[in-house]
Amino acid sequence: MSSLDINPFKSAKKKLNIAAEEINLDQNIVNYLSRVERALLVSVPIKRDNGDLEIFQGYRVHHSTIRGPAKGGIRYSPEVTLDEVKALAFLMTFKTSLLELPLGGSKGGIRVDTKSLSINELERLTRRYTAEIINMIGPDIDIPAPDMGTDAQTMAWIMDTYSMQKGRTIPGVVTGKPIEIGGSVGRSGATGTGMFYILKAMCNKLDYRLKNMSAVIQGFGKVGSIIAKHLYDHGVKIIGIMESTGGIYSSNGLNIEALRKWKAQNNELKDYKENSIKQITNEDLFATPCDIVVPAATENQINSSNAADLDCKLILEGANSPTTSKADKILEEKDIIAIPDILANSGGVCVSYFEYVQDINAYFWNLERINNEMRNILLKAFHEVYTLAAERELSLRTAAYVIAVSRIAKAIELRGLFP
Ligand code: NAD
Repeated sequence: MSSLDINPFKSAKKKLNIAAEEINLDQNIVNYLSRVERALLVSVPIKRDNGDLEIFQGYRVHHSTIRGPAKGGIRYSPEVTLDEVKALAFLMTFKTSLLELPLGGSKGGIRVDTKSLSINELERLTRRYTAEIINMIGPDIDIPAPDMGTDAQTMAWIMDTYSMQKGRTIPGVVTGKPIEIGGSVGRSGATGTGMFYILKAMCNKLDYRLKNMSAVIQGFGKVGSIIAKHLYDHGVKIIGIMESTGGIYSSNGLNIEALRKWKAQNNELKDYKENSIKQITNEDLFATPCDIVVPAATENQINSSNAADLDCKLILEGANSPTTSKADKILEEKDIIAIPDILANSGGVCVSYFEYVQDINAYFWNLERINNEMRNILLKAFHEVYTLAAERELSLRTAAYVIAVSRIAKAIELRGLFP
């Protein structure tokens, strides 16, 4: 089965089912969490620069608001589907619960190839999408953030459109904004930085030294390029990096500083040239012998068709849902440890939460406070997951889901059912 044949929502629910079986969770709770609270499908018409009208498909999904307002990114990609957005919203519910943030889970997206639009078209698309989903978002309803294909500028347009519609400036409607309009220091690098804290904690447990370990990374965007920098700065040899347009490999190790500069100017890595560099495919990347594999692109990239080829010690999941449940089983048999997405990449939502808190209080923190508080929250979650996994002989993923779902189940019980 190709990775694209895997239904992302079914795949996400499987991970909950595995955890639910482990703790004999009430089937009513499983059924409750196997559905999304609400989903909105919108048509997003825009005028192209040449005067033509084009209509894009957009979505916003709240998976759960049981523990607080919904929180989740907005993805622009030609592959976005309703089931993908539902799966990503579902994951956010468990991620915010795992970190004990007072938030639920949501996600949004537009099915669009951003490379085919001009900057003005992208702005019109974002503003019209915001207008279409306006009743579903707000600081105490649902707070979007960047995801694949969107960035701080996208958040600025959403914040401005929302504020103009409400007649006042409301920075807390989105996170991941530019700092000048209520964004937080440390947010743009938070996901990659948080991944690094978690990886270091894992290496401490396993008595691994990062220096001289090797890694490959799929994705060199907002997440992949930042974890690459942390790994590189700590002596990890990064031998392969893959993007949607192509990938590069060097057994000598890639110069991440040079690649980040190249990417800033050229938007993609595939044409980067140096003597020792070879072009590679995704298949080659995942089969490369190394210590750490970092999927930081999209879903289901490690699946039953390639999991057996992996030849590494650790998988650090920067992407959301990069590993299927079938692949998880194969990896367990090979003694490869997967540090699960809802833990590994949770630094992003953690600092998004800090941004939201800062906006609401109109009082801003410095980078030291942001990184210290993020580290404390992430390491607490890591130790809870690690300890439970060790005590009950669970995978880290199942342990993370057990902890997250137990908190959500408790919240459901306490709130009771309306009416
Ligand atoms: P991005 O758009 O900044 O970068 C995505 C990268 O992945 C690009 O380098 C792109 O070329 C590559 N890519 C996309 N599809 C690919 C494919 N099929 N094969 C190889 N490479 C491919 O996105 P991002 O914000 O870095 O997000 C990456 C992943 O991390 C997503 O799964 C996202 O949901 C997850 N994530 C992001 C954040 C965040 O704060 N941005 C937080 C948590 C999780």
